[in-house]
Amino acid sequence: MNKYAIAIHGGAGTITRASMSAEKELSYKKGLEDAINAGDKILAKGGTSLDAVEAAIRCLEDNALFNAGRGAVFTNEGKNEMDASIMEGLTLKAGAVTGVMNIKNPITLAKAVMEKSEHVFLSGLGAMQFAETMKIEFMPDEYFFVQQRYDQLTQAKETDTITMDHTEIKTSAKDKTGTVGCVALDIFGNLAAGTSTGGMTNKKYGRVGDSPIIGAGTYANNNTCAISCTGVGEYFIRAVVAYDISCLMEYKGLSLKQACDVVVNKKLVTIGGEGGLIAMDAKGNIELPFNSEGMYRAMKKSDGEMYIGIYRD
Ligand code: ASP
Repeated sequence: MNKYAIAIHGGAGTITRASMSAEKELSYKKGLEDAINAGDKILAKGGTSLDAVEAAIRCLEDNALFNAGRGAVFTNEGKNEMDASIMEGLTLKAGAVTGVMNIKNPITLAKAVMEKSEHVFLSGLGAMQFAETMKIEFMPDEYFFVQQRYDQLTQAKETDTITMDHTEIKTSAKDKTGTVGCVALDIFGNLAAGTSTGGMTNKKYGRVGDSPIIGAGTYANNNTCAISCTGVGEYFIRAVVAYDISCLMEYKGLSLKQACDVVVNKKLVTIGGEGGLIAMDAKGNIELPFNSEGMYRAMKKSDGEMYIGIYRD
C-alpha cells in the first residue's frame, strides 16, 4: 500500500510547561490524539486526504478546548464568529467561509462551498444562507458558550487587547484555546489542507484573520506542499505565509524544511509575526515549525510513527 500521513495543530502561543497543569496537558493531548486518529482512520481505509482533513478538524471543532467550532472565542460584541477554509492539492479547488455564526462545523461548510457552490469564499449571512440550503448543522448560541472563553473576553476588554489563542494577557489566559488545522497525504498521492478558527478574542468590526484566506492561512498543491497556519493572523496575511512556502519550493527549489524555516523563523520574525504552522510535502515529509513558545501539534504516518507535542522541546 502507498504511504499516507497526517498532521494537525491546535493553535500556537505562550504555552509553557510552567503554565500547564498535568491534568490540562492530558486533556489537550487526548484531544489531539482523538483528532489525529479520526483522520488517520480514513486514510488507512483508502479515503481521501480531503475527507481526512475534514474529519480531524471536525473532531477538534467539537472539542471545547480548542478555538474553533464549539470552543470559538468571543468577539468584542460577545459573539462567536468563525472562519474556516479547505483546499485540495490535486485540483487546487478551495472553499472558505468567514464570520459565520451558529455553525457546528465550519470546516464542513467550507468543504460544501468548495464542492457544491460556484464560489470559493463566502461571508457572514450569505454563507449561513448557503449552509441552510446545504442542510449543514446549526447549533444554538448556548452550545458555543464556554465560560472560560467569556472570561477571556472580559479580560481582553479590560486590558483593551486583541489576543491570540494562547497568548497570556495577565493571569488566567493560560487557559486560552487554539485555532485548529490539518494537512494530509492520501494513498493516491494527493495533499489537502484545512484550517478552522474563532479568530482572536475581542476582535472587532468584522475582522478576518488568515485562517479562511487561501494562500495566507491555508494552501495545498500536489506539486509542492500542504500548509495550515496558526498565529496572529494580521502578520500571516501580510506575509502570505502558506503560499510563500509553496512558492519557495516551486520557484526556488527549496525543500519543505528549508522553506518553512525561511518563512517561520526569518520572514515572520522580521515583521513581528508570532505563530507557527504544519506542513507536508507530496512525499509525506512533515514539518511543524513555530516561533512562539509552544504549539499544540501532532502527526501520524502510515508506518506507525506518531508524535504529539505542545512545548518547544
Ligand atoms: N490565525 C488566527 C487568526 O488570526 C488565530 C490563531 O491562529 O490563533 O484568526
